[in-house]
Amino acid sequence: MVSDQHNGQNTDHGTPRTPDSPPDSGAVAAARRDRAVRAAVEQGLISDAEPVVALLDVAGIRSSAAALRIAFDEVTAPGSTVLHAFAVKAAPLVAVLRLLSEQGIGAEVASPGELALARAAGVPAGRTVLDSPAKTTAELREALALGIAVNADNPQELARIDALISTGPSRSPLGMRVNPQLGAGSIGALSTATATSKFGVALRDEGARDWVVRAFLDRPWLTRLHTHSGSQGVPLELMAQGVRTVYELAEEINAAAGRRQIDTVDIGGGLPVNFGSDEEIPTYAGYARLLKETVPGLLDGRYGLVTEFGRSLLAKHGLVLARVEYAKSAGGRPIAVTHAGAQVAARTVYVPASWPLRIAAYDAEGRPKPGRAVAQDIAGPACFAGDLLAENRPLPLLEQDDLVAALDTGAYYFSNHYAYNSLARPAVHGFTAASEGEDGTVRFATVRAAQTVEEIVNESGGAYADALLGG
Ligand SMILES: *Cc1c(COP(=O)(O)O)cnc(C)c1O
Repeated sequence: MVSDQHNGQNTDHGTPRTPDSPPDSGAVAAARRDRAVRAAVEQGLISDAEPVVALLDVAGIRSSAAALRIAFDEVTAPGSTVLHAFAVKAAPLVAVLRLLSEQGIGAEVASPGELALARAAGVPAGRTVLDSPAKTTAELREALALGIAVNADNPQELARIDALISTGPSRSPLGMRVNPQLGAGSIGALSTATATSKFGVALRDEGARDWVVRAFLDRPWLTRLHTHSGSQGVPLELMAQGVRTVYELAEEINAAAGRRQIDTVDIGGGLPVNFGSDEEIPTYAGYARLLKETVPGLLDGRYGLVTEFGRSLLAKHGLVLARVEYAKSAGGRPIAVTHAGAQVAARTVYVPASWPLRIAAYDAEGRPKPGRAVAQDIAGPACFAGDLLAENRPLPLLEQDDLVAALDTGAYYFSNHYAYNSLARPAVHGFTAASEGEDGTVRFATVRAAQTVEEIVNESGGAYADALLGG
């Protein structure tokens, strides 16, 4: 079916994209999004049975993956080894991992589930990195058997790895995570480089640095250092300082060892995302240039690099589309009661000040809704008063059967479902807009089917219904 060009402001949305196309402009992505919403309605993706769906912009994901690769290619010496490992927690969807893998991007995993997803997507062991702070011995054993890279979080974990490799060598590149203890960003819960963060060896604690150097000298097979200074809300300068701290430690260890024992530095992820508009800022290119200025020695060809970006690869390329079931008012406040709330946007609902989301209003046909902006609440379906996607938000006055889209939700939102009220996980569909000159069709591919009520019953112990009776 054909999407109308509804408002005359559609731009050149159909440019064919290869992995090396330049990054999208925000306007191009926004036009593609509007076409996808219209097509989702026309193709019946929104219904009584599924009044909320999630959409992923395949061209946008490809474009971000290409931008990431190009950014680091441009600042590293020719022939440098650079592995970009996508932080699976940002979008634990097998088809997304496979799409990224096709773009040369590996996987950073932090649980048996995430490792299984990466393997199901066909991500090679050589492009997989295991980083959890609570790895069990069994998880470590599996990782070493598979040959995936492991970053030890702490001395006790390192002792477990000692024991495991004493029984036989492993192909796994092995490293240690350190916390440069540089301070927090604007969101405490996502700041991993504070003095008391739970991650890695706290480098500035008394005796810690010497202990780390010794640990490497005692273990010739320990060849990597890892840091991840935080996610959304951490300033780029702080991230770059964290990388510099780790680079200086690598230089110190290599000098003490008298050889290039540390051959690879894993700089983590954490590039923040602009949730305020369609513009993709900051860019990978900007961050890569800042690293080149701050820590040129890391990029001069002597070290391999691993990156672990999550949010910045996916966030701008996903949206949650939900029907307005009822439009009402209370105390003079218009309220749109929709099907998108805490189950798909837990962070925004519980910590709205840190995680505001843009909301786009569409009419029942999926066309951008015109009209004067009126302050209103965009509520979700869950049974608690705080279940609001947006409070007092100026938007064209929403009516029953209109649609709302929660934008920039491609990472950490609908893919990280929250099961409150036994609300179903919505379906996720990838969309691809046909090229200009073709018929203008938007094609959808199912990435994840909606959870059924039968599945909800099963996952809620339906098979154990009698478990608490008798006895
Ligand atoms: C969460 C996490 C990432 C990804 O962070 P983003 O902010 O999504 O880029 C990378 N590495 C580690 C160790 C993480 O915990």
